[in-house]
Amino acid sequence: MTTTTTTDVAPRWELDSLFRGGSTSSDYAQFVDQLVADIDAADQQSKTLPQDLTTDNADEWAQWILSVQDAAERLDLAYLYALSLISQDVADVKATSHTQRASEIHSRYKALESSLESFAMRQSDEAWETLMAIDGITNIRFYLDELRRNARLKMDEPREKLALELSVNGYHAWHLLYEKLAGDLRVSVEEDGETKEISLGQNSARLSSSDRNVRRDAFEKMEGAWETVADLAAMTLNSQGGFRLSLYKNRGWDSALQEPLMRSRMTQATLDAMWNAISKSGPELKRYVRAKCDRLGIDKFCWYDQEAPIGATERKYPFEEAGDFIAEHLGSFSPEMGEFTRTAIEGKWIEAEDRPGKRAGGWCSWVPIRKQARIFMTYSNTYDALSTLAHELGHAYHGFVLKDEPAFNSAYPMTLAETASIFNEMRVNDAALRAAEGEEKLALLDLKLQATLTFFCNIRARFLFDSSFYAERKTGNIERAQLSELMKQAQQQAFFGMLDDDQGLHPLFWASKLHFFITEVPFYNYPYTFGYLFAKGVYARAMEEGPSFASNYRNLLADTGKMTTEEVAQRHLGVDLTKPDFWETAVKACLSDVDEFVALVK
Ligand SMILES: [Zn+2]
Repeated sequence: MTTTTTTDVAPRWELDSLFRGGSTSSDYAQFVDQLVADIDAADQQSKTLPQDLTTDNADEWAQWILSVQDAAERLDLAYLYALSLISQDVADVKATSHTQRASEIHSRYKALESSLESFAMRQSDEAWETLMAIDGITNIRFYLDELRRNARLKMDEPREKLALELSVNGYHAWHLLYEKLAGDLRVSVEEDGETKEISLGQNSARLSSSDRNVRRDAFEKMEGAWETVADLAAMTLNSQGGFRLSLYKNRGWDSALQEPLMRSRMTQATLDAMWNAISKSGPELKRYVRAKCDRLGIDKFCWYDQEAPIGATERKYPFEEAGDFIAEHLGSFSPEMGEFTRTAIEGKWIEAEDRPGKRAGGWCSWVPIRKQARIFMTYSNTYDALSTLAHELGHAYHGFVLKDEPAFNSAYPMTLAETASIFNEMRVNDAALRAAEGEEKLALLDLKLQATLTFFCNIRARFLFDSSFYAERKTGNIERAQLSELMKQAQQQAFFGMLDDDQGLHPLFWASKLHFFITEVPFYNYPYTFGYLFAKGVYARAMEEGPSFASNYRNLLADTGKMTTEEVAQRHLGVDLTKPDFWETAVKACLSDVDEFVALVK
């Protein structure tokens, strides 16, 4: 990479190879109409098929299951195209209605899925085996077995259906209410001698200011804003938790972790082994935090110092150079990964231009049927943008290695979803670090350690809070003061006492963090830490073994949708995730940067 000040504009993607004609595409309209017709037909068919599986009707059922799978794949494409249109132009009204239509079709599809569940749970093991032996079904039996097993852990069908219906207004609605509450909050800040009203999202950008007074002000304003609605947030959190616990009780589940662990396809033993490794070696991070605070003149480490920048990252990375850089360093590990990066760039799969009217943030999706990927981001010529590009290209590669798998084998759990993306980030980050010196090196190293601090401490505080929240909630409503008390304890423990007891904690974090209120995914926290450490473990192995590991890596990714998390690790890394070894090695690899950081600061 060279230092240039080019004004290169990052490229736009092309969508015509998905469907011609943008949001008025008649090809797309036709595709969607056909999908709806087929889903309705499958729904009708599920009612007329014989309800008891026998050798005589197993083939009919197999065909029906394959038609459901086919609908799932087409639905993905329909949704992805609508998402692409709305992301590139938020004012595209037609695109908005396409996304709404796609979610409507999604609920129709969900009905097919519950028919499949209720059919599966009723069949005897013997009859089920007959079905599983049929061509096209054998290959997707992991998905079907899991669906049947999970359905049997729930209540009977009528009660589950009732719970599902009640959850729309009695459960998920609390999440919507929370989003409204958070979205309406404003804080006033002084900028250039003017007082401005800004949203909490805008305010949060101030938390990474290099000026500590700005960070402190951002933090205090945020706490102040949440203080005004903390009673309502507490009601919301209690209601959501109460709903969940009632449902679990009626299903006969006694642990609040059962649902999240099922979704993660992993056991509690693995989760415990991961956190144990972090609590054992995590205190090493104190040396990093101390050195950084000394350098920045911070006496007491506070919540709002977590994202304090250090060093300098003034170097610009135009898109084209970033693409070359990523392709080169991925390619030297795996030629296929290098070529894939080229294909994604040259095939115009990436929407990167910085222009008004685009959605914020970024995403990546593999496009089924078309066997391409699409990446959406706003490329800003910074190191951060380069790193995001590498990250999203990792997701795209993950989709690519799954391209020939049936849809039911392609849905990997959140715990494994970040393996390829973080792998890419690490590869690119190491290469950038090798080329950097002085203040730039310090900045890059700090970004790495900031991530480690987040995954080891910040995310763990959320997990500890969630754990104690559910334990307490079982006995009744938890008052807001008590919620804050639980949060303070979680932060002190998770940060190994690094945060200043008086001013350093964030008691209202339980209210300010959206993740606690997401109803679709309970315990929306540990999968992040898991994903990071798992990717670190895979990456460390790849660097140790070199390019000869590339095919193992590819096979590992290809199995993420059809095995438990432990099985993926056992088969492709030969490690037992329920034991401490893998985790301790990964944790140490993350902490290996501390010495260099401390030396560089001095
Ligand atoms: Zn990601």
